[in-house]
Amino acid sequence: MLEITHLKEFLAEPKHIVITTHPKPDGDAMGSSLGLYNYLIQKGHQVKVITPTDYPSFLHWIPNNSEVIIFTEKQEESKQFVANADLIFCLDFNALVRINELGIYVRESKAKKVLIDHHLEPEGFEDYRLWTTSACATAQLVYDFIVNIMGDRHLLNKDVASCLYTGIMTDTGSFRFRSTTATVHQIVADLIECGADNTLIHQLVYDDFSLNRLRFLGHCLLNKLEVLPEYNTAIIVITAQELDQFQISTGDTEGIVNYALSISGIRLAVLIIERQDVVKLSLRSIGDFPANEICKKYFSGGGHKNASGGISSEKIDAVREKFNVILPEYKSLLVK
Ligand code: 5GP
Ligand code: MN
Repeated sequence: MLEITHLKEFLAEPKHIVITTHPKPDGDAMGSSLGLYNYLIQKGHQVKVITPTDYPSFLHWIPNNSEVIIFTEKQEESKQFVANADLIFCLDFNALVRINELGIYVRESKAKKVLIDHHLEPEGFEDYRLWTTSACATAQLVYDFIVNIMGDRHLLNKDVASCLYTGIMTDTGSFRFRSTTATVHQIVADLIECGADNTLIHQLVYDDFSLNRLRFLGHCLLNKLEVLPEYNTAIIVITAQELDQFQISTGDTEGIVNYALSISGIRLAVLIIERQDVVKLSLRSIGDFPANEICKKYFSGGGHKNASGGISSEKIDAVREKFNVILPEYKSLLVK
């Protein structure tokens, strides 16, 4: 592993740079990626942001979103940029298998790789690392990179600040998770001073839902929410047929699991969704309950202690039934 401070010298000359992030990118993935993009272009670099898949429309307003290439839609172009890059920044994920087929090309590329991330257990594919699980968001680490490692606070313009604000806002649940330290508030204050319009950003991200999405949320809460008081757990199971019926698209299921967690006394919330060829799980927990352990042990996944995810190739009913075995195993941690 090389010392990340050496990048200052490496980036003194114009370079070909690729920035990539995890599939179905969220606010932190897009905010940190485009924040870094909007910074690097000011230094004269040729920069491409390549996402493994598409992402929610409530993130499409982010400055220079139109410059993003989606791998699944432009494979050849993406492969060329990755192969010809001098440097590849990998943001908000910890292992190349996480970014699907794109990970193969990133691994093969002659480019030096930089990991900027806050997930547990990084695989170690990178040459440079800016990583700590104590960061509230990858966007916080990108701020640290620009200001403290590169010494370029003066390049935090309105575009960069708006991107980084979005990442921190979304990954901290609007500044309420335990990761939201005094330092985070100081960074956020600085971003507002640099031009991030906090009121507008909240509105663009959180008040941009379709009527379908709101009705779908109503359906989930009224008809699909299963509460298991003996395990302090709430589960929502959504079938592909329901996604179809409500014309649910990328990002429309974001946040639904948090409603299950907002019930008084509930310590674990589980959202199980039947996607095209796989069942996707989202787990959220309160306090010290390790939701990521369940994802790792049973669903080929992982993530943070309080917010994790995984997948299953079993039928959706079988995935739900698996919790009849999992919950008794974790009962002593769920019921205290
Ligand atoms: P979400 O429930 O919003 O999809 O994901 C929450 C968090 O869980 C993500 O930030 C990520 O850290 C983790 N996560 C989600 N899906 C997966 C997965 O399939 N594998 C792993 N290792 N982590 C995941
Ligand atoms: Mn993140």
